[in-house]
Amino acid sequence: MFNSARLKLTAWYVLIIMVISLSFSVVIYKVLTYEVDRLLAEQNIRLEQHFNNPDMFPLGMRGGRMLLPLIDPTLVEELKQRLITNLGIINLLIFVGAGGLAFLLAGKTLHPIKVMVEEQKRFIADASHELRTPLTALKTTLEVNLRDHQLTLKEARQTLADNLADVNRLQVLSNNLLRLAQLDERRSARQAEKAELSSAMAEALRIIKPLAKQKHIATKSHVAAMTVRVPERDLTELLVILLDNAIKYSPNKTTVEVTATQHGSQAEIKVSDQGYGIAAADLPHIFDRFYRVDTSRSGEGSTGHGLGLSIANKTVQQYHGTITVKSRPKQGTTFTVRLPLA
Ligand code: ADP
Repeated sequence: MFNSARLKLTAWYVLIIMVISLSFSVVIYKVLTYEVDRLLAEQNIRLEQHFNNPDMFPLGMRGGRMLLPLIDPTLVEELKQRLITNLGIINLLIFVGAGGLAFLLAGKTLHPIKVMVEEQKRFIADASHELRTPLTALKTTLEVNLRDHQLTLKEARQTLADNLADVNRLQVLSNNLLRLAQLDERRSARQAEKAELSSAMAEALRIIKPLAKQKHIATKSHVAAMTVRVPERDLTELLVILLDNAIKYSPNKTTVEVTATQHGSQAEIKVSDQGYGIAAADLPHIFDRFYRVDTSRSGEGSTGHGLGLSIANKTVQQYHGTITVKSRPKQGTTFTVRLPLA
């Protein structure tokens, strides 16, 4: 598809260049031949004047100078022919040069579109793959239970509860997919909004509190008063993703710590846990969409879809910040986010 688009675009570029070049050549040819014809006409007038009045308009040489130079009409015809040939050769060269250049330019113009389309295709393929598994499970349980004539009310309730959990997971997945698509779309939007870091942090800690409580995980926070150039909603979402992971991937009765300090013109936020850690082999991939660490290695069954860190990374990039990670298996993980101060 892209090759044919590239060829079409090349053809359009060449067509435009050739129309300009040929028009220019025609104009040059017309102007020059007009001037040469005018010269010939001028000379004819002089010749006529000479024959009518040879004393006033003499022919021949005087003092090494031609008094009335003569132009041979066959030379003029030859000049016109040579002009046509030369302009033809120049246009041919322009056609070949422009063709090559246009092909290169068409490739360059189409490259970002190609990357975007391929990215979208991969996104759709990944998303449908993620959706297929829970949907198939849901469908199978419903079908099996529907066919079971001895199904008791208690069993039916249990099935419905399981189905509801699956539907909830699907809802989270679709919300995350939508969020990722939005982040891809509005790259430079809302750059002017600011947020108070401590209030976003307080909100994020409030959101993850029930999960921390459930796992008896203590949360410590030392946040300096700073305003960052990120909208409050996005900042809270980013902090929730990091805190939620820190709790999810830590054993019970551990501590999760968040600190925020000023680093030049940036705020540095660190989220550290004493959890299962991430193996060195997985570290380069954890920000990839749908990437989940092998659960047998992470020490705990993962319920996520591998979208949280991808959303966090895109959010940070959108607001010209950075996100890095340091981790040691079985010892803990620290995510460091740097965001520009307002
Ligand atoms: P998920 O929804 O699966 O948590 P994420 O994109 O948030 O997806 O994380 C990707 C993977 O990175 C997770 O599957 C998990 O294995 C690993 N991970 C993220 N944060 C931590 C952490 N604090 N400690 C250990 N592993 C983590």
